[in-house]
Amino acid sequence: MSFINDNFMLKNETAKKLYDMVKDLPIIDYHCHLNPKMIAENYQFRNAFDLFLGGDHYKWRQMRTNGVTEDFVTGDKDEFEKFKKFAETLPLLIGNPLYHWTHLELKRYFGIDEVLTPDNAKEVWDKVNECLAKEEFRAQGLIKRSNVEVICTTDDPADSLEYHEKLADFPVKILPTMRPDKLMNIDQLTFKPYLEQIGVSTYAEIEKFIIDRIKFFNDHGCRLSDHALEYVPYAEGDPEQAFNKFMSGKPLDKAEIDAYKCSILKICAKEYVKYGWAMQLHIGALRNNNSKMYDRLGPDVGFDSINDLCIAENLAKFLNSLEKDNVLPKTILYTLNPKDNYVLATMLGNFQNGDIPGKIQFGSGWWFNDQRDGMLDQMRSLANLGMIARFVGMLTDSRSFVSYTRHEYFRRIMCNLIGEWVEDGEYPDDFNYLEKIVKGIAYENAKNYFKF
Ligand SMILES: [Zn+2]
Repeated sequence: MSFINDNFMLKNETAKKLYDMVKDLPIIDYHCHLNPKMIAENYQFRNAFDLFLGGDHYKWRQMRTNGVTEDFVTGDKDEFEKFKKFAETLPLLIGNPLYHWTHLELKRYFGIDEVLTPDNAKEVWDKVNECLAKEEFRAQGLIKRSNVEVICTTDDPADSLEYHEKLADFPVKILPTMRPDKLMNIDQLTFKPYLEQIGVSTYAEIEKFIIDRIKFFNDHGCRLSDHALEYVPYAEGDPEQAFNKFMSGKPLDKAEIDAYKCSILKICAKEYVKYGWAMQLHIGALRNNNSKMYDRLGPDVGFDSINDLCIAENLAKFLNSLEKDNVLPKTILYTLNPKDNYVLATMLGNFQNGDIPGKIQFGSGWWFNDQRDGMLDQMRSLANLGMIARFVGMLTDSRSFVSYTRHEYFRRIMCNLIGEWVEDGEYPDDFNYLEKIVKGIAYENAKNYFKF
């Protein structure tokens, strides 16, 4: 039997029946990091290294763990030799999602139905490369093969969105998502150069810039924003005064930094409400922890981990300050630290209202939690403390053009969980409701929530 067989991850009969109901539904990938330029220019991958390992810090981390030296990871060794090092690493990744992701990708995109090992690395390399040489395996072809209906990229507010414009007639909707982190992070070295780049030097100009760019993004079909928060900032205070102090070259204290950050988030939130956008808050990464490797390679190369700060109180105060002023948009809260699953799952209920079902969402297992147990923990927390039936489901959060199989992976795990509840007699085998619930989580909730 194939490793990736029809019943992969489906361990009970109800789960199989439920998965059958959702397996062919289109995918809505409402948060990812695909490069719109690569899509618009219909990028052709050089080979299997370029496709699978080119920018994938999840894999780089594990190759390093397996004792692969940096020259074979991000260095300049021959690309087949690097792929071979990955093939040597993969069989040891028992229990790691990379093992499942990779084999789903090999099977669904390239029809390769055997597990990758050093023994067949050359054969797999040749087969994948043969496909990648064809027109239908360029970036646009890979997207068309993925049964994906909407892709939301992640873009800086200053982005011209020229590639999204070029893709206006592409059969899959490629929409921008605004991520205004650089505008908010007054405590980082990138802030001053960013202000210069966008030609802004007063607080009033920042406010105008945000309002203008959100309108511009909305005109280009944007339906949501994304904010990366290493911690949740909350402080009352005068943001303009803090900004002016920064501009005069004086250092800001924590309260001033947070007053500025909070007020920028609030300006954004008010505009999101105006256009019916959803606001995503990704909370809790501890980034760039290895300074030696940061100096050598820069950010996003596999040296990040989970932070363990307290988030509940500030998050509640922040959401409350928006709600009080009627500027709380649809919001999706993600945590990188599973210790906060219950914190977020209970936070939602504080701010739900009758206007939009599931208005405040608990986002799916993110980054280090994007694996079976992480997804299960998130879904169990949500079900125990909230309403999983209104959950907007999975996203790839990926830079890879073949990661759509992660939606398949999620759907299998989600159907297995719900199937288990039914088989254990904790929910009746009422397939009218069950069908509604699994189709909702797999596709329909996201479609309705974001209004694609
Ligand atoms: Zn992301």
